Amino acid sequence: MATFLSNPLAPGTKLGAVLPQSSSQNGCELVNPPQTAEARAMIIITRPDATEEQIDHIVSRIHNWGLRAEVSRGEMRVVIGVIGPEDKIREKPLGAFPGVESVTPVLKPYKLVSYEFRGMPSKVKVGNVPVGGKEVVLMAGPCSVESEDQIIAIAQSIGKAGAKILRGGAFKPRTSPYSFQGLGKAGLQLLAEARRETGLPIITEVMDTKDLELVCEYADCLQVGARNMQNFSLLREVGRTRLPVMLKRGMAASIKDLLMSAEYILSEGNFNVLLCERGIRTFETMTRNTLDLNAVPVLKAETHLPVVVDPTHGIGIRAFVPAMALAAVAAGADSIMIEVHNAPELAKSDGEQCLLPREFEDLVGRIRGVAEAIGRQV
Ligand code: PEP
Ligand code: MN
Repeated sequence: MATFLSNPLAPGTKLGAVLPQSSSQNGCELVNPPQTAEARAMIIITRPDATEEQIDHIVSRIHNWGLRAEVSRGEMRVVIGVIGPEDKIREKPLGAFPGVESVTPVLKPYKLVSYEFRGMPSKVKVGNVPVGGKEVVLMAGPCSVESEDQIIAIAQSIGKAGAKILRGGAFKPRTSPYSFQGLGKAGLQLLAEARRETGLPIITEVMDTKDLELVCEYADCLQVGARNMQNFSLLREVGRTRLPVMLKRGMAASIKDLLMSAEYILSEGNFNVLLCERGIRTFETMTRNTLDLNAVPVLKAETHLPVVVDPTHGIGIRAFVPAMALAAVAAGADSIMIEVHNAPELAKSDGEQCLLPREFEDLVGRIRGVAEAIGRQV
């Protein structure tokens, strides 16, 4: 099996080593922008015939003024997002530069997250797997990492079936303090072993800022769970790393709340964010949650960030997960997250909603069919 470790941190590396030092670290231009309430964002759209020199000139001027610039290159033109304190930005003659077609303020409360800030969809790389392109990326794995045999067997089967990312929890947010809470560090080590065995990058949840340094040593992508979607100190801390973050929608959070929470992460300089719809609480009692597929096209229009759908928690009943996964692909999801377990009856969490490996494999074929029907691929 191919081996690769896509985590930028070698085990043992301190978190400080991935905190931003300069404005160009890890290819992310926007590091530590002002966090004042008055922060303002402007979008500069350049002319189709703008030259590289003109674009460089605009960007270096913006930097000289102490403002931040985020450059997005589309097929036809370049969009430059500018952020800084309102009073500082307002007085600058951004429209006067050669090569500029228009300058518009971002009026939305979520600025860096808004679609217009980039003018094109973003791709976020988890390990070496880009999410947000033509491919619908499948992530799968057990709710909880339980043992070496369990995680390796599941990782191998989902990888063979077509999943590109392994997801499993080592720190589990459980409704009851008496339920299985996850294996913690031992679980992270088992995930790293599964990554070595299969080459699949790993997503795992970080529940608390005190565990962030540890989780960063192992994860290729940090999951912030539904219950933590508005844990603003955690959001800021994950925003100070350069690992991708999958932010799950809170069960009582509006789409706008989700976007505002993502803004916390981007405002700390981390643009590598995936938004995950995982079902909301409604008056319905026949399903675990109500998967809000409305959120998919709305998010695709409102933000440049890739959208993941988790039909497993969204409906919470194994037999109905495949239908909702197919619907999520049809609705435009960039990635689908499915819980898979090789012995659901023995699972320490969420056994009733996970697919068996062969059910997952069958679903991948059907997802491929839907993806191709809408011009995407798996
Ligand atoms: C999970 O992904 O296993 C999980 C606990 O999800 P959520 O935070 O969406 O409930
Ligand atoms: Mn779960």
